[in-house]
Amino acid sequence: MNKDSKIFVAGSNGLVGSALVRQLITAGYTNLVTPEINELDLTDQLAVANFFTTEAPEYVFLAAAKVGGIHANNTYPAEFIYLNLAIQINVIHQSYLHGVKRLLFLGSSCIYPRLAPQPMREEHLLTGLLEPTNEPYALAKIAGIKMCESYNRQYGTKFIAVMPTNLYGPGDNFHLDNAHVMPALIRRLHEAREARLPEVVVWGSGTPMREFLFVDDMADGCCYLMNLPEEQLKAELLNYPEPCFVNLGTGVDVTIRELAETIREVVGYQGRLTFDPSKPDGTPRKLQDVSRMEALGWQAHITLRQGIERTYAWFVDNMGRWR
Ligand code: GDP
Repeated sequence: MNKDSKIFVAGSNGLVGSALVRQLITAGYTNLVTPEINELDLTDQLAVANFFTTEAPEYVFLAAAKVGGIHANNTYPAEFIYLNLAIQINVIHQSYLHGVKRLLFLGSSCIYPRLAPQPMREEHLLTGLLEPTNEPYALAKIAGIKMCESYNRQYGTKFIAVMPTNLYGPGDNFHLDNAHVMPALIRRLHEAREARLPEVVVWGSGTPMREFLFVDDMADGCCYLMNLPEEQLKAELLNYPEPCFVNLGTGVDVTIRELAETIREVVGYQGRLTFDPSKPDGTPRKLQDVSRMEALGWQAHITLRQGIERTYAWFVDNMGRWR
């Protein structure tokens, strides 16, 4: 990407998109197109086609998605499959029709089978059954990967797919029921400290293991891939039948109990943590093998503790939004 290339960030209001915009601006890119949801409905095929005709973006980051935690995925499965498929179909197809130079599609590590070998490697895709709590979302994301792969094969496009592990950071959704575990616990522990509550309930058994990637690391990794030299991109990432997608994570995971303890320390909550086994645990473990991304020359550098501190500081400054 040149500093004046026209770059479309789809989903620029979200956790992922806003981190990408921050990263691009900091790196000196000056020609970003970041329509709000009321300016461009990405599920509207005609509107997306008109947008590509008018704006003619050269590079596309597809960070728009309907996302949520285990409860939201379980409660709104139709919305998760419909909205994600509709957005992907429109943006990926129009990117092809309008000759976009590179597109980067963001997926999720829940594309892997529920009981995939750990750590999960890219070639484990479609080797087993998915986790039922987020199967509709995962299927939409798998379809997005296969769209990128198919367009690359048939049309010679350069559509890259990235599978970040559980993301967190400034701009996250801190809704109590629909959030992912990290923002949900940051908020619950903060409010418990303020209200001097004796205990905080953590969902599930506390034993599932999760890997967390700070969004600024994610944005850095995505920009790195967008700028990968053409020859390297073709030889090391878009060389079908090798997967056209790459894991993006830290390669390190923690139990939900350890996560809750770390957040408790950062927030400064003194009370007890108790666990509610009536709530679902989800996949027992979801650790990515990040060796493909490392071989491409990139690795994460923000520690879990640093990331939680930065996220907590952002939450304290912005918590009015969820009141
Ligand atoms: P997942 O990674 O797709 O399973 O999604 P989540 O981030 O929602 O949940 C991760 C794990 O954290 C699951 O085992 C949850 O049961 C557990 N968890 C513990 N407390 C909470 C909470 O308050 N909210 C959420 N969403 N998950 C929680």
